Amino acid sequence: MQRLCKFFKKTGKSKKFALEDELDQLKLETDALRQSLADERSKNLDLHTHLENEREAQGVYRLQAIQENEKLEKLRMIQKHRDEKITELEKDIDVNKRRLEAFEAHASNCGTVFDSNVLKQFLKDEGSQREKYRMKMMKARKMLQKAQEKEEGDQKAWSLCEVCAFQFADTEEQTPRVLACGHTVCQSCVVKLAAQTPGEIKCPFDRVSSNWSDQEKDIYLQKNLSLLHM
Ligand SMILES: [Zn+2]
Ligand SMILES: [Zn+2]
Repeated sequence: MQRLCKFFKKTGKSKKFALEDELDQLKLETDALRQSLADERSKNLDLHTHLENEREAQGVYRLQAIQENEKLEKLRMIQKHRDEKITELEKDIDVNKRRLEAFEAHASNCGTVFDSNVLKQFLKDEGSQREKYRMKMMKARKMLQKAQEKEEGDQKAWSLCEVCAFQFADTEEQTPRVLACGHTVCQSCVVKLAAQTPGEIKCPFDRVSSNWSDQEKDIYLQKNLSLLHM
């Protein structure tokens, strides 16, 4: 009995050790599993981040795709507009072609041949004729101008005092005065000449002397009335 008890004690003890070992083993396995789980979680997190990034990129691509589509639509509209214009122009060309055909048919019916060279020659002749008339007119205008200038020049020659070249006029200083010799000079020139030879005037053209008094001008030297009234 004592032996058996000892045996049990012994086996109990060894069983306890075995269980403790097993527990240790289980603890180790649990730790390993925990570690593995943590690794998995970390991997999952990485994958999640990656997925988020991918989604973001996809969003950007989608936006780009929408914009591209809009551009494409615009280009399509422009192309459509161009096509419509081309169609319109083609219609115009058609109309003009038919008009030209009708015109040519009409011309051949009338017995006249539509010849652009004949028309061109006609226009050229008309042009040169017009140029001739223009030259003639210019010539006539020039002649008229010359005649007018000559007339004005002549007028100037006899209406100017030959000493000072001022125009005679019905004013005190510009009055034309006839000298004893018959020459005419303006009154301001008479006064200047009289200052050189007091009481008389020597004609600047022929040195013939005339009497003169500043106070009684009209008595000694007559006004040249015909010059004033021309
Ligand atoms: Zn004179
Ligand atoms: Zn004068």
